[in-house]
Amino acid sequence: MPAKYDLLLKGGTVVDPSQKLNTPRDVAVQGGKIARTAQNIPAEEAAQVVNVRGKIVTPGLIDIHAHIYEAVTNNGVNPDVAGVYAGVTTVVDAGSAGCDTFGGFPRFIIPQSQTEIICFMHIARTGLARTPDIQGPGDVNLDATLQAVERYRPYVRGIKARMVSPALEIMGIEMPRLAKRAAKESGIKLMVHIGDTEKRYPADIIRELLPILEPGDILTHFFTANPGGVLDANGKLVPEAREAKDRGVWLDTAHGRMNFAFDIGKRILDQGLLPHCISTDLTVPGRQRTVHSMTEMMTRFLGLGFTLDDVVTMCTLNPAKALGEENRLGTLGTGRQADISVLEIRDGDWEVVDVVGGKLRVQKAVVPVLAVKRGQVFTAQWGPRPWGWEPDPASK
Ligand SMILES: [Zn+2]
Repeated sequence: MPAKYDLLLKGGTVVDPSQKLNTPRDVAVQGGKIARTAQNIPAEEAAQVVNVRGKIVTPGLIDIHAHIYEAVTNNGVNPDVAGVYAGVTTVVDAGSAGCDTFGGFPRFIIPQSQTEIICFMHIARTGLARTPDIQGPGDVNLDATLQAVERYRPYVRGIKARMVSPALEIMGIEMPRLAKRAAKESGIKLMVHIGDTEKRYPADIIRELLPILEPGDILTHFFTANPGGVLDANGKLVPEAREAKDRGVWLDTAHGRMNFAFDIGKRILDQGLLPHCISTDLTVPGRQRTVHSMTEMMTRFLGLGFTLDDVVTMCTLNPAKALGEENRLGTLGTGRQADISVLEIRDGDWEVVDVVGGKLRVQKAVVPVLAVKRGQVFTAQWGPRPWGWEPDPASK
């Protein structure tokens, strides 16, 4: 008799905020979908049984801001290194490609990747193939962007804009306005990077930017220490930040190489404005030094005092909703796509860093064990960093 299920994850603790579950459960998968979540599903009913006793079983992790245009942009990480081999089932590329360079994603990157890829198209024509991204007003072409979104619509969920110099010096607030127009006319979202990494543009640009964002749009680098972040000169939240959250703008902390500081984060959290998503903004150089993986972001937020349920929410249910994919991703509900992460909370002496020299010493690290993508099992390869860890000098 053929087995009832293709795969059974047996003996784990399911943490699925979409169903308010944090309890021992087995998870059965059939035909790439979640077939059943229950206690004591018999092992004989499955063709493949994986013992996950002592492990946490969550909906597949979603990294809503990373850079995975490998070999096209010089900072692009291999999508499966950011994805399934780090316990992550879906990765968003946040603006590595613009209208002139997007075609390589469906042709060369997406078909070769086991990890699901969702893209935001950069408002700059060549995306991040060249830095700075915008060097003159001709680097933004609204019509060409609209046409490219139309052509590649199945892959594109939004437009990305970066509030950095020299783009802001050249175009000012017109730049994010044009990006918003491209998003709106295409019926997709806008994701905006805040924090002028060149530290040249007036910081209060944030107060002009935030009102441009509509419900469903995404603010990324919520904890940046660079000019243009959500805190004013006195460390108080600008009023527009709370207003944005109240009307349904998603707040994402995207770490990266230059835009995450524990001090800024703590000040924001003290004022009660919590992030929805905690993405990596992973890049090749960043991965060697400042931010290693999605599970490392989970470790950071456990270290900041968030509960495991909150942390899982911020990398499953919330990003699924922010992407408009909550009916397919971010849940272990029966009948949904079988995207599952198996994680371990490991006791030890671990280190997580920020980008301004801050360090947090933590006793619990989230370690990726497995990713299940549409029912297929991948063993994770990347774990946490021990306290006292030093970057490889060759990577600088
Ligand atoms: Zn980024």
